[in-house]
Amino acid sequence: MFQTLRRMMSPQDTLRIRCGACGREAAWLCGEAIARLGPDATPMDVRRRLRCGACGAAGQARISI
Ligand SMILES: [Zn+2]
Repeated sequence: MFQTLRRMMSPQDTLRIRCGACGREAAWLCGEAIARLGPDATPMDVRRRLRCGACGAAGQARISI
């Protein structure tokens, strides 16, 4: 079974996203991450959908909570 944002995150958690290409980092609070990505997004969805705001690389995001 795949993990989803709703299962992985508690309300006080922060989703950290790091670009594997340029190293830019972003951090979203649980509510913000779910609002942007949807509660049923899997880590694979997040990687596929995010594009780096700095270098434009897609599919390079590393995520951690
Ligand atoms: Zn980047």
